[in-house]
Amino acid sequence: MALLIKEFDRSMHMHYVSQYNYFKSLDRLARSSDNKTDLNEAIAGLSRFSLRDVLNNDEIVTMYQHKTTLGVIKQWANSGVKVDANVIREDLRRRERYFVPQYVMKVNTPRYHAKPECEYLRANFENFETPPEIAKLGPEKVRDFQNFCDKEWPQYKDRPVDIFWAHVGSRFGVPINPKEVSYASQERPESVRDQTESELLEKIHKGVENVRNHARSTGLNGYIYAHPKRLYSLTKDERLDEARRQAFLELLKLKKAIKMLVFNFHRIELEMPEGLLSDELLEAFGFLPCNACCGMR
Ligand SMILES: [Zn+2]
Repeated sequence: MALLIKEFDRSMHMHYVSQYNYFKSLDRLARSSDNKTDLNEAIAGLSRFSLRDVLNNDEIVTMYQHKTTLGVIKQWANSGVKVDANVIREDLRRRERYFVPQYVMKVNTPRYHAKPECEYLRANFENFETPPEIAKLGPEKVRDFQNFCDKEWPQYKDRPVDIFWAHVGSRFGVPINPKEVSYASQERPESVRDQTESELLEKIHKGVENVRNHARSTGLNGYIYAHPKRLYSLTKDERLDEARRQAFLELLKLKKAIKMLVFNFHRIELEMPEGLLSDELLEAFGFLPCNACCGMR
């Protein structure tokens, strides 16, 4: 891996991002591409994975676009082609912390790192989901709600969280109990040597089987090809009983796992270390330097 990074480094500056941000960035880049891949080409290009049993046409096209995007990134790394930031992200505004509608508290702008051993390279996310009772009141109320929570939280953060939500709920005239979201990963980006293509291929086949078995045993066969956004919205449907909701969640999770494995397969096939992106690309995606490991720029 050391050799490979040197090879990448020769032509341009690169920095590290977390596994999560690496996949997310390349996924965004793939989706922003103007040349939409032809479905037949995508099916042929991914035929060895037998994904047609569990992924719909759009998902297969996106998977294939991941592959071609990784190829393009590798070319850029070698030749230093300038990235057109506007194509990737039209609304680029670099802010340290900002509100998004899904979460109550502000989220951080993703960081890039100079050192692969930096502890902040591991994914870590803690927040609360915007409660449906508030979301129902419209975007303006959500904004008020977020601003209010942001302002009040410092005075409550050392007390039981229920007291805080009772306070906020009474201000907005609805009882709320926001769901806590917490995600932490001890995983650092993987090198190309951590897994072999044959191991990954085996895991992908197992993953496809898992989706089929899960769908069969939970009666969700009719949902295997549903759009992920639709599946996700089903998991939020309050009329569903808990077991059914969990079954939808599990289906989404199993399908996501296959997508990550296929993505990793292509990355390893192209001998690209995970998590390493060029500074041009990081700039275009709006990443900020990590305060702990990047010197002043
Ligand atoms: Zn760092």
